[in-house]
Amino acid sequence: MILAQLPRFHLSIFVKPSFSLSSSHFNFINPKPPITVARTLFSFAAKSNLATVEPIPLPVSDSSDFDDAPVEIPLDKLFVPPETDISSDDPASLTTRILKGSNIVLSKYARDAQIFQADFVKSSVRTEDCPADGLPEFALVGRSNVGKSSLLNSLVRRKRLALTSKKPGKTQCINHFRINDNWYLVDLPGYGYASAPHELKQDWNKFTKDYFLNRSTLVSVFLLVDASIPPKQIDLDYASWLGQNQVPMTMIFTKCDKRKKKKNGGKKPEENIKEFQDLIQGFFETTPPWIMTSSVTNQGRDEILLHMAQLRNYWLKH
Ligand code: GDP
Repeated sequence: MILAQLPRFHLSIFVKPSFSLSSSHFNFINPKPPITVARTLFSFAAKSNLATVEPIPLPVSDSSDFDDAPVEIPLDKLFVPPETDISSDDPASLTTRILKGSNIVLSKYARDAQIFQADFVKSSVRTEDCPADGLPEFALVGRSNVGKSSLLNSLVRRKRLALTSKKPGKTQCINHFRINDNWYLVDLPGYGYASAPHELKQDWNKFTKDYFLNRSTLVSVFLLVDASIPPKQIDLDYASWLGQNQVPMTMIFTKCDKRKKKKNGGKKPEENIKEFQDLIQGFFETTPPWIMTSSVTNQGRDEILLHMAQLRNYWLKH
């Protein structure tokens, strides 16, 4: 696909390869990679036969949060985890299998989602220095001020755990938090600080990219995007880089409680989310998973944990 169809991007040409399985793993994002990396990826194969079906209503976290009709999502824009068959579901039963405020279908791997223990383990400046115990991990990344610390605290239900990552000397590090003694949440440096020196920005770029490409236990990157504002080029670039490099990605739309009045020119979170999706779709063979969240109302918290659980349990089994 030629990216001229996506005028806001200035990247090269991607070709969508046909879907294929390699070894025992799946790819859920399949843009043609400019480089080949051996990694563990997820995929979903639900595509063509679903594309013609009518959109189904997308369940949302709490109807009181929304002043409009439910968002609709076309079937071919759902994230269907591997080993999950939705071909025999009618729209009504499929709706009940989709996580609220997301495009994610629940699979048989969605279990043991609750967090009952969270401990800060270490800060690393290089991928080689990260914990070597082979436990699966999820990395949170996003523009500074996107709400990453708030989300981390909300996930682990601790008011100040993420402060650890904000301590002097740790903001530029890969910070590992061990969850329930059997997986990790990883806090990566925020990007897009207007005031950061150029060299420092380059350095963050270098080590986070190295981490994305070489951390074999990374199950998925959780890219946080502020849904209360229109898409920012830096976030679109980040998403496209992850897509190009076949790094598994889930989009977490933050601040979904902030609802600007249309008459004041502001767009609703759903509109900003839709615009973001439209702008990145050319970078992915299949739509990446996404979830709407708010650290104020805790919208999306349980959904993120269930999604992490199903990715993690699948990863552990394969
Ligand atoms: P970080 O720099 O990405 O770690 O962002 P923080 O978690 O420190 O949040 C930045 C600002 O956004 C703070 O003022 C938070 O109170 C606010 N914020 C974070 N999450 C939300 C949210 O879900 N809704 C609203 N309305 N504000 C939020």
